[in-house]
Amino acid sequence: MSEPVVLVINSGSSSIKFQLVEPGSGRVDGSGLIERIGESSGHLVYHYDGGVIERDDVIEDHTAGLHAAEEVVAEAGRSLAERGVAVVGHRVVHGGPVFREPTLLDDAVVAELKRLSPLAPLHNPPNVAGIEVARRLLPDVPHVAVFDTAFFHTLPEAAATYAIDTAVAHANGVRRYGFHGTSHEYVGERAAAFLGRDLEETNQIVLHLGNGASVSAIRGGVAVDTSMGMTPLEGLVMGTRSGDLDAGVILHLIRNAGMTVDELDDLLNRHSGLLGMCGENDFRAVRAMIDDGDPAARLAYDVYVHRLRRYLGAYLVELGGADAIVFTGGVGEHSAILRRDALAGLGGLGIVVDPDRNESPDGSERRIGADGSAVEILVIPTDEELAIARKSIALV
Ligand code: ADP
Repeated sequence: MSEPVVLVINSGSSSIKFQLVEPGSGRVDGSGLIERIGESSGHLVYHYDGGVIERDDVIEDHTAGLHAAEEVVAEAGRSLAERGVAVVGHRVVHGGPVFREPTLLDDAVVAELKRLSPLAPLHNPPNVAGIEVARRLLPDVPHVAVFDTAFFHTLPEAAATYAIDTAVAHANGVRRYGFHGTSHEYVGERAAAFLGRDLEETNQIVLHLGNGASVSAIRGGVAVDTSMGMTPLEGLVMGTRSGDLDAGVILHLIRNAGMTVDELDDLLNRHSGLLGMCGENDFRAVRAMIDDGDPAARLAYDVYVHRLRRYLGAYLVELGGADAIVFTGGVGEHSAILRRDALAGLGGLGIVVDPDRNESPDGSERRIGADGSAVEILVIPTDEELAIARKSIALV
């Protein structure tokens, strides 16, 4: 008897990621990615035990996308109905001030999510679209929303508040919410378990470095600060997002370059970060350009590292010292050079990377600190789908 399976859905504006996960063992039954929804050439790839199914078809909208997902799952062996999906877990980016826990989806919750959309115009509408289609497709199965912001609802007021007029802030929901919370929480728990320590007694700085990137300060399992703010635009340098910026730059671009809201949105979210500085958003491509002697790529990388170290310093002070610094996400898990440069010269703070451990290609949870490093330095692969699956099944 196989254990019950959770269908995890992460629905973006033009893509849907879906996974069938056994929440206990963590075994993945199948994992799919649908891309270029609504464009002239859609693409679907589904990996499962027996192999891979790929399709190049026009995928008109999210409804067509999830129908195609249903078809390939059946084609791979057993239909969703035969497989017995116990619950559908949906990743939702912004829970606003309302949703602090995984939440069973009903019409009222979906309506509330739509009301929150102005807070996350890029992310929540496609999340909601995915939820609506999936609820129609699987009406007899409970659906749960798991929020990126939930883990950060514990941020102290001093960390969550922007220093602007309070009335304006309140009227517009302007405060810091934090994102990637499911990953930060999962990785923090795994790190404590790996070290054989009580989560409640471990202070950690978790660096989630993927296409999007964020860092969090976690005291005893409770988030006390994080680099993303009201939206996922604040904080670290990312693939295509600027991260921290003097708000005066935006005023300047409006006044002097006549830029519109949509142009600024596009600039800061899609044409900034590594891409804006050197023309590539993929970290590997940036490293390859550096190897070829490209000065723009070098500078982009240096800005990336500089920003990251600035946050590291801030969070070491906020926590009064950390027990562990933990790397995760595509860059954090795989780039030994980035990990080396991020922590270079910090021996005086008790932070020493072991070069051999750091460069080992081992993909599992591992320690990369030197034996004498007072602060543990770990690489912990994240698994947001598994975390969503576990939270969803726990709720139902
Ligand atoms: P997402 O945020 O979309 O989930 P990932 O966590 O998969 O993305 O991270 C993607 C990033 O990880 C890309 O910039 C990619 O270049 C980088 N990356 C993946 N593998 C490596 C590697 N072996 N070395 C350096 N960077 C890598």
